[in-house]
Amino acid sequence: MKQITWVLFPIFLLLCSCTTNPAEHVSSETNTKDFALRKGRIHPSFSSDSALAFIQKQCDFGFRLPNTAEHDACGNYLVQKLNSYGCSTTVQSFTAEAFDGTKLKGMNIIGQFCPEIEKRVVLFAHWDTRPVCDNDVESNWHKPVMGANDGASGVGVLLEVVRQLQMGGDSIGVDIVFLDLEDYGKPSFDQQEKKDTWCLGSQYLASHPYYKCRPRMGILLDMVGAKNPFFGFDQVSLYFAESYLQKIWSIAKSLGYASAFVPKESGTIMDDHYYINTVAQIPTVDIIDFNHDRGFPMTWHTVNDTPENIHKETLQMVGEVVLSFVRGE
Ligand SMILES: [Zn+2]
Repeated sequence: MKQITWVLFPIFLLLCSCTTNPAEHVSSETNTKDFALRKGRIHPSFSSDSALAFIQKQCDFGFRLPNTAEHDACGNYLVQKLNSYGCSTTVQSFTAEAFDGTKLKGMNIIGQFCPEIEKRVVLFAHWDTRPVCDNDVESNWHKPVMGANDGASGVGVLLEVVRQLQMGGDSIGVDIVFLDLEDYGKPSFDQQEKKDTWCLGSQYLASHPYYKCRPRMGILLDMVGAKNPFFGFDQVSLYFAESYLQKIWSIAKSLGYASAFVPKESGTIMDDHYYINTVAQIPTVDIIDFNHDRGFPMTWHTVNDTPENIHKETLQMVGEVVLSFVRGE
């Protein structure tokens, strides 16, 4: 993912406004308070140890770069884990062309929890890793990113979420979608002009729906494992899914996580939720660690994006917020 310019955003809104439905208004401050009251503000059971183990396991496969055995082995592991937690799992295989013309074999992995239930939400994270450390010193530019935070953290939290749903005996319609080829965007040191080079898996998914009945809303997790995170309101989420954004951040506040979930505008992010919102038209919120003062976390697109730099406290808060929200929907 990357930040897109503020200058272009109004043009983008103009282009989108005639093709998309306004975000569904489902909640209010009052509803959120009722929800917190109903739930007694109890922290849901969520194990950050377990989420961290899922992150470590993904990294143990090596770099999850498309067209490699490491990538495919990790993909098979994710399918097997979703199956083991009671999901009905399918793989959407596709080929996409990278910015440099390389043909990339992609796998969007889709696990449906309680697939018989029509009323559904969808939770996304990307599972591929970036082939270049283009935010690092120049000598590291051509090394791949391990992606403990950028990729594996969102997947790790979602695997733990679905494990908790199964253990809790929940009967709710939740789709877990692990998107591929998010992070193969044009490197910052490449000067050629190319559009839409990021988020190739979500671009494919958005134009090839995996569902008969569209989920009502979505949450994307991206970089949810760094120390002292800042989860703010990005412009794309705000435009397409404001009511959900407000509701999720209110839940975070009720759980005591207001210092990380800050209900202020953070910036304009090009991430998988852009295509899910604009093409698939599922109102989708991005929970992503970013603000326009400090940018993405320190390890972003560097060789230091490793499991040692993951903080369990951050995984814990994100996991609890997502579980609370999903159970209240
Ligand atoms: Zn990235």
